[in-house]
Amino acid sequence: MLAGPTAVGKGTVATAVRERHPEVWLSVSATTRAPRPGEVDGVHYLFVSDAEFDHMVEHDELLEWAVVHRRARYGTPRRPVEEALAAGRPAMLEIDLQGARLVRDSMPEALFVFLKPPSWEELVRRLVGRGTETEEERERRLATAREELAAENEFDVTIVNHEVHAAAEELVSLMTVDQGS
Ligand code: 5GP
Repeated sequence: MLAGPTAVGKGTVATAVRERHPEVWLSVSATTRAPRPGEVDGVHYLFVSDAEFDHMVEHDELLEWAVVHRRARYGTPRRPVEEALAAGRPAMLEIDLQGARLVRDSMPEALFVFLKPPSWEELVRRLVGRGTETEEERERRLATAREELAAENEFDVTIVNHEVHAAAEELVSLMTVDQGS
């Protein structure tokens, strides 16, 4: 389970893991937010309507879900996770803190990894550099990030994201150890 504040690079690290280690399975979340340019439905997210998300919640199709940044809903489809685990594949969920807390209750055996920016200034620089959010949205995300950084002690392990490939390898080494235990 990979969690961490907005713009810390969770998505980039998760992609780097998949490039070097295709055996690792990455959950595709459902979300009610609109796609960003370049995002592909079914690859980056399952982009769904509010009604479709309601349906998933009502039918208990989500392992966890949360309203993130007080805006859109995001959730992890349950069945694909169960299938990946049943097939013996290391499974990676890239979710926010609220979701991580919920999964911690339902899957206490999962490893909780907190991805942390090298510094607060670096986090702000990455968020601004990404240039995909409005000023208001950025402020909201930074407020959430401040809260999330304070929750580091709830996690099993912290990885500092100085460099994406190094962080990805650190993550994979944890999965291997976790699998054997
Ligand atoms: P973004 O809109 O930047 O893609 O993602 C916003 C936040 O939603 C990130 O912190 C990300 O970790 C979180 N997120 C993405 N998918 C899920 C999910 O399935 N469940 C939960 N709880 N959070 C998610």
